[in-house]
Amino acid sequence: MSNIALFPGSFDPITIGHVDIVKRALPLFDKIVVGVGHNSQKKYLFDLEQRIEHINLIFKDTDKVEVANYQELTVTFCKKIGAKYILRGLRSAADFEYERQISQLNQSMDSELETVFLISQPKYSHISSTIVREIIKFGGDLGEFLPKEVKV
Ligand code: ADP
Repeated sequence: MSNIALFPGSFDPITIGHVDIVKRALPLFDKIVVGVGHNSQKKYLFDLEQRIEHINLIFKDTDKVEVANYQELTVTFCKKIGAKYILRGLRSAADFEYERQISQLNQSMDSELETVFLISQPKYSHISSTIVREIIKFGGDLGEFLPKEVKV
């Protein structure tokens, strides 16, 4: 049986912090599905197709990484794709408190589903998609935050 992990997020846009988490998690799983969440009530800077294209380009040489879009509960999508693990990154105590709640909720809905957390490298812990979107709005330099595949 293969160990499949879902790495869920908005990825609006994917940053080098996200990419680092996926790369570091690769030895732990047979397959990582980067699950791009899409909520029709939410406004995104990059549309769904762009967000998916960025991720596909970044991981085009890695068979073990796939990209998918989902619009249902994370636990439902995990069942559908056979993922027994959810992968998340932790940058700070604020991330921890948020992630603790989501992870415990998901576990109460599916007791077999485990969330695996990787602590961000210090050099990436200040990077977030929110900050990147702000920098895009004000025209700042994004070189150190975004993978080269993300064209702004
Ligand atoms: P969401 O919209 O669910 O918060 P994000 O796309 O912002 O999704 O993030 C997805 C996951 O990646 C989350 O677990 C988040 O904590 C993690 N993450 C985001 N930025 C970084 C980073 N710089 N280093 C490590 N993990 C990160």
